[in-house]
Amino acid sequence: MKPVVALIGRPNVGKSTLFNQLTRSRQALVADLAGLTRDRQYGDATFEEKSFIVIDTGGIGEVDEGDGTIDDYMSHQSHTAIHEADIIVFVVDSRAGITGADEVIAKQLHTLGKPVFLAANKMDGVHEAAIHEFYALGFGEPFSMAASHGRGVGNLLEAVTANM
Ligand code: GDP
Ligand code: MG
Repeated sequence: MKPVVALIGRPNVGKSTLFNQLTRSRQALVADLAGLTRDRQYGDATFEEKSFIVIDTGGIGEVDEGDGTIDDYMSHQSHTAIHEADIIVFVVDSRAGITGADEVIAKQLHTLGKPVFLAANKMDGVHEAAIHEFYALGFGEPFSMAASHGRGVGNLLEAVTANM
């Protein structure tokens, strides 16, 4: 079984952009695996001869209804992806800073006992200083990344695949 890496984070932080970077030129397999579910997108990724499955998720972090508990933020499909995963990549938007939804997701991820790598995305401008605040989420050093340019993705993957 290949290791499974789930991309988790609130909407619009760049999860799908990162997914496309990780799975590019592997569309056939993406299509095959997508048949497993309509809610989560699966893809095959390779980094330095290590292969793994990536899960993209949507619909996490927005409170549609309810009283703001963790379950209101975490859609069913995101819960499932988190539990299918061996490794989590928690994506945040370095331009937005830490939001309430990020904090709720972080709290949930801390309960899992799985490795979590924090990716501070959209670091393609004059935002270098902003990355330090993300230490406060408690996942160690954030990986600076610009998924839309592919910048920093190699560094992240080196860490993610280190123990595969
Ligand atoms: P998702 O909702 O988390 O899947 O986010 P998307 O991948 O759909 O991206 C949301 C928006 O952020 C899109 O307009 C992307 O083009 C943009 N985006 C993603 N990555 C980057 C990045 O590294 N830099 C910038 N400036 N924009 C990005
Ligand atoms: Mg998306």
